[in-house]
Amino acid sequence: MLALQGAVAEHVRALQSSEAEVRTVRRPAELEGLDGLVVPGGESTTMARLAASVGLMEAIREQHDAGMAVFGTCAGLILLAESVADAEALEDFERIGGLEVRVRRNGYGSQLDSFTEDLSVTDLPGDDAPLSAVFIRAPLIEEVGEGVEVLAVSSAGTEAGERRPVAVRQGLLLGASFHPELTEDTRLHQLFVEMAAGA
Ligand code: GLN
Repeated sequence: MLALQGAVAEHVRALQSSEAEVRTVRRPAELEGLDGLVVPGGESTTMARLAASVGLMEAIREQHDAGMAVFGTCAGLILLAESVADAEALEDFERIGGLEVRVRRNGYGSQLDSFTEDLSVTDLPGDDAPLSAVFIRAPLIEEVGEGVEVLAVSSAGTEAGERRPVAVRQGLLLGASFHPELTEDTRLHQLFVEMAAGA
């Protein structure tokens, strides 16, 4: 669990109830031996600045190349995205990258526009019941590359009928625009734990 900033404790709880053994990561050496890393929601610019100051972005990328799965939620998704549409505030910082999507920060509006939506998500372990997803200043996924699987879509904020990806997977990368750690439903965390375990 990347623990520089953001919604750390809630993710740790969700991972533990998904039967993962969890430790927090604040510097590169702490990545050693991990099967998976969760990059939480929070503020992408702050997280990127803190990570860059200790060389963590590069270390995460290297560890991912060596087989570590990475799950980015909200700000974490922004750090995983290959491309950020409104990148000015992030331009000075390295990101993790690797996930072939273009995101727009705060693409669903401000804090006051936060909302919850029941999503149908592909491949969740357990059952097919809708997943309640909390969107807070969430990044909008504007484009996905060919190698990216869309696991859930939402029509929030769009013209009738238009649906945009909100949960995506590419190899050992998982991304969600929303905050799966803020509800009691841990199925998305379970899916990630299975990915990290090589299931
Ligand atoms: N808008 C925030 C950012 O750009 C992300 C919000 C969140 O993680 N809840 O970092």
